[in-house]
Amino acid sequence: MNRYSVFALARAALDRHQGWGRAWRDAAPKTRYDVVIVGAGGHGLATAHYLARNHGITNVAVLEKGWLGGGNTGRNTTIIRSNYLQDASAAIYEKSRSLYETLSQDLNYNVMFSPRGLLMLAQTEHEMKAYRRTVHANLLQGVQTEWIGPQRVKDLVPMIRIEGPRYPVLGALYQPRGGTARHDAVAWGYARACSAMGVDIIQNCEVTGIDQRDGRVTGVRTTRGDIGCDRLGLVVAGHSGVLAGMAGFRLPIESVALQALVSEPVKPMLDVVVMANTVHGYISQSDKGELVIGGGSDGFNNYTQRGSFHHIEETLRALIETFPAISRMKMLRQWGGIVDMTGDRSPIISTTPLGGCFVNCGWGTGGFKAIPGSGWAMADLMARGTPGPLAADFSMFRFREGRFIDESVAAGVAH
Ligand SMILES: Cc1cc2nc3c(=O)[nH]c(=O)nc-3n(C[C@H](O)[C@H](O)[C@H](O)COP(=O)(O)OP(=O)(O)OC[C@H]3O[C@@H](n4cnc5c(N)ncnc54)[C@H](O)[C@@H]3O)c2cc1C
Repeated sequence: MNRYSVFALARAALDRHQGWGRAWRDAAPKTRYDVVIVGAGGHGLATAHYLARNHGITNVAVLEKGWLGGGNTGRNTTIIRSNYLQDASAAIYEKSRSLYETLSQDLNYNVMFSPRGLLMLAQTEHEMKAYRRTVHANLLQGVQTEWIGPQRVKDLVPMIRIEGPRYPVLGALYQPRGGTARHDAVAWGYARACSAMGVDIIQNCEVTGIDQRDGRVTGVRTTRGDIGCDRLGLVVAGHSGVLAGMAGFRLPIESVALQALVSEPVKPMLDVVVMANTVHGYISQSDKGELVIGGGSDGFNNYTQRGSFHHIEETLRALIETFPAISRMKMLRQWGGIVDMTGDRSPIISTTPLGGCFVNCGWGTGGFKAIPGSGWAMADLMARGTPGPLAADFSMFRFREGRFIDESVAAGVAH
């Protein structure tokens, strides 16, 4: 693998940039691997990366039915934060956020992490109390957040309408080191680093069946042939229920479409991320100048990867009442992804009823921020067979045992 650096750039310039190799190998499937991971989204790739880097397990294949990063990882609005309420959530999201701080250096790939600050607006008394409680919890958890009043909100976001036509801004839960990263780059960076360590990334390879013997996984059937494995990781977000069905168990997951849209590019007008959960919308500005706008999820289960049209109108209504300055802007494009929602809005990183088969899913509307931490915890689980401290609480069996990790306030609109 060519190491990317300013010197490499200068050397390549002498050669008119003809000599750059491919970022990752386009591998053909072998008949057997120690570990197979289904799904080359951020979580699957990060799992493979930390299996190789932290545990020395490199005989690994990551199978992807489409192109890598083409699922939710390449469709999200890239918000990164760790201001969750419950201890288990704060631990894994903060681990993830802290890994993002040095991810570009660790992967030798610029993921454009931008800790520009994130505000979650409080627009009702209830929300204000809930966010203040979260700030106290975060203090105990070692997560740096603070409660700020309306004037400070206005200072940070001059274009905001504090008084609001329906809901005034009463303050905000502020995470100064929250922010964004470039979503494709996170997938590409992990893919490149995996490939360099010998992991095979196999695109256009859909898993259509899971083979088992005596209660243990033995391999997978794919559109590119059968592949044997000792351990299998299912990391397929909105398709987790489908893959679990192939393995012979059910997951407490619902799949729904969630959508986002971007505006035409404009000059810099917003240098923080703002989430407004009461009116239901959130917004940041990309490096290209587009406003990146997140909408709501459909109220019914589906696999359309598009989202219902009425959400576009609802989301823009919410943002226009908070930021009247954007009312005349044109929207450039809209898209959707299929997210995997659990009842308590917390993820699953777990062993399963099938021996040797592990599952990572349930990140719902907010798993981009979790990619490094989730991959770290899932690799730990798959390497050792039992969960480490980061994953211990996120077993799929918690729903049977009544040990919910309720993040529905932190993740109501989410992201
Ligand atoms: C519109 C939108 C906005 C969002 N905004 C944010 C945000 O601001 N911040 C945040 O933290 N999170 C956000 N999210 C959530 C985040 O995108 C996801 O939680 C995260 O990307 C999930 O990553 P993943 O790797 O688990 O799944 P994915 O990236 O979806 O990867 C799963 C992969 O599995 C593949 N696959 C499925 N079935 C098979 C099969 N049978 N065989 C082989 N491969 C298969 C798929 O093709 C896919 O590439 C948003 C999501 C959406 C849709």
